[in-house]
Amino acid sequence: MTQWPSWLPLRSDLADLKPYGAPQIDVPVRLNTNENPFPLSEVIQREIAMAITKNLEHLNRYPDRDAMELRGALADFINSQSETSFTASHIWAANGSNEILQSLMLAFAGDYCGFEPSYSMHPLIAKTLGREFRVIQRSANFTIDLNESMNEIAGRGAGLIFVTSPNNPTGDSISLDDLRTIAAEARKVKKLVIVDEAYAEFSSRESAVSLIDDFPNIAVVRTMSKAFAFAGTRLGYLVAQPEVISSMLLVRLPYHLSSLTQAAGLAALGMRSEFLSHVEEIKRERTFVHEGLLALGLHPLPSDANFILFSGFTHTSTELWNSLVDRGVLIRDVGIAGYLRVTIGTHRENQLFLEALRASL
Ligand SMILES: *Cc1c(COP(=O)(O)O)cnc(C)c1O
Repeated sequence: MTQWPSWLPLRSDLADLKPYGAPQIDVPVRLNTNENPFPLSEVIQREIAMAITKNLEHLNRYPDRDAMELRGALADFINSQSETSFTASHIWAANGSNEILQSLMLAFAGDYCGFEPSYSMHPLIAKTLGREFRVIQRSANFTIDLNESMNEIAGRGAGLIFVTSPNNPTGDSISLDDLRTIAAEARKVKKLVIVDEAYAEFSSRESAVSLIDDFPNIAVVRTMSKAFAFAGTRLGYLVAQPEVISSMLLVRLPYHLSSLTQAAGLAALGMRSEFLSHVEEIKRERTFVHEGLLALGLHPLPSDANFILFSGFTHTSTELWNSLVDRGVLIRDVGIAGYLRVTIGTHRENQLFLEALRASL
C-alpha cells in the first residue's frame, strides 16, 4: 500500500485503494486482458491511417463535441446486428466503455448494485466517486438467482443496477426474459438497468438493445475494445433512450472524444466485417481451449465470451498463475480462490497455454 505523505490532501476514502490494472508483463503469450489476439490487417491499417491523416490539418480546432457522425455510424452498426432502428440520439460515445460507466454514475444518483462476481470496475468507479455499491451475490455456480434477488433489486430505491452479460469473469450470459424481469422490477423504484455487453459480439444470445424500446430504463454499454480488436483506440458507447443519452451531455468533459479517435472509429465502422472477421475463429478456439482444459481434468465454465474461467487444480490460484508466468504465459487471477481466467488467443497461443498448463499441474 502506498504511504501517502501528510501534505497531500488525498480523500481518506481513497487512501487504501490500489490502482486498477492487470500486471502488464512482457511474456510471449499474453492471455490476461480479453483483447482480440489478431493484429489489424495492413488494409485496415492503411484505411485508418488515411482517415487520421485527413484530420491532421484541423487539429488546431476542437473536435465535434457531440460526435454526431460517429454516433450515427454506431447506431447503424447496432441496427445491422439487432434489427433495431436507433439514430445518433440513442447513442453516446466515449474513451472506452469505462468512461461511459463513469458518466452513468456521475449522472445518476442513488442506490448502485450489481451481481458479483463481475467486472470489478463497477464497484471501483463507484468508490472513486464516493458512492456505495451494494453486492448481490451470484449463486454457488455463479448464476443469477432471480427469486433470491428480487428484494435486492429494489434495494433502497432509485439508482443503477449493473448486469454484465456475457459476465466477466464467469462467461455466462443472461436471457432476455430474465432481463425483462429485472427491468420491470427496477422500473417500479426508478432504477436504470445498466447491461454491460463488452463481449456481446461473441455471445449466442440476442443483445439487450432490442429491449430498450419496451423498457426505457434499460441502457446497454458496448465497446470496440474486445471483439472489434480496437482496444488501443479507446472507444466505448452507450445505447439507450434519448433521455438517458441527454443526461450524459450534462456530465461529459468538454470535447472529451478527440478528432483522431472519432476519425479512427468512423473508419473502423466502415470496415466492420473486416474488423469482426476473427470472431468465428475465436469462438472455435474457445471450444478448443474448453476441451483442452477438460482433457487436463480441469473444470472450465461454459463461456459465451472470449475467455474461460476454470477451476479443478490443486495449487492455489497464485501458485498456478506464477508457474504459468515462469513458462511465458500470462493469464488472469481474478481474485476468486481456486479459479483462473484465460483469454482465448490465436491457435498457437492456446496450444502454448495448454502445454504450459499441463507442465504446471
Ligand atoms: C473489458 C471490459 C470493459 C471495457 O472496457 P473499455 O474501457 O471499453 O476498454 C467493460 N466492461 C467489461 C465487463 C469488460 O470486461
